[in-house]
Amino acid sequence: MPGGKVIPAKILAVDVHPKMPRIAILIDDLGYNRQGMESSLALPYEVALAILPETPFALPTALTAKEQGRITLLHAPMENQRELKLGPGGLYANMTEYQLKTTLSKGLDGLPGIQGVNNHMGSLLTTKADSMKWVMEVLKGRSLFFIDSLTSPKSVAKKTAQEYGLKTVSRDVFLDNIRTEKAIDKQFSRLIKRARRHGSALAIGHPYPETMAYLKKRLNHLEADGVRLVRLSDVLEIIPQHTKE
Ligand SMILES: [Zn+2]
Repeated sequence: MPGGKVIPAKILAVDVHPKMPRIAILIDDLGYNRQGMESSLALPYEVALAILPETPFALPTALTAKEQGRITLLHAPMENQRELKLGPGGLYANMTEYQLKTTLSKGLDGLPGIQGVNNHMGSLLTTKADSMKWVMEVLKGRSLFFIDSLTSPKSVAKKTAQEYGLKTVSRDVFLDNIRTEKAIDKQFSRLIKRARRHGSALAIGHPYPETMAYLKKRLNHLEADGVRLVRLSDVLEIIPQHTKE
């Protein structure tokens, strides 16, 4: 058909990504030490913090973060495949629905102002369909979001969260599995690359001195990379509920 010309792909590409690529950062494992708490709370307010239940600094971390308007999560300890100790508030695959829901609820009740949950470890529990359903039922009842730390490639956590209509997203990059500036920088570059490709990307780090020192410097120099640090809530996905055809 003359005149029925297809719009060139180039123009479409510009329209599809009008915004600057966004990165979000979540610091896990808060609660056990004061130094980790203080250095995390000194990072830009966009950086979210995940707090382990019933730990010595859980409450002061949650309260200060709340004053700062910073997003906090319950970092729910979940059973892993290596039998590493979970500490208080741990969720295990052999728990009944009642036990799991009660334990998770207790963890949530102990942290004022939290907005979401992510898994601490969990390479075993996040593969268990029933356990994940029970987790999401508790979160649904409290209007919390869920971040899949993705500690197992077989995790069904994000999928289950979506089935319950929760806002959710998976971790893209771990910043500090190797605790050297060089290794962290390499992971940060991967994060930026992923954000450029997909529009946004989420990194998880830990309150190690190496990570804190790196982020303190690096987050002040993002303009040159053409990416923007945003709050965790700005990278959550909502999948519309499926309608049967
Ligand atoms: Zn953790």
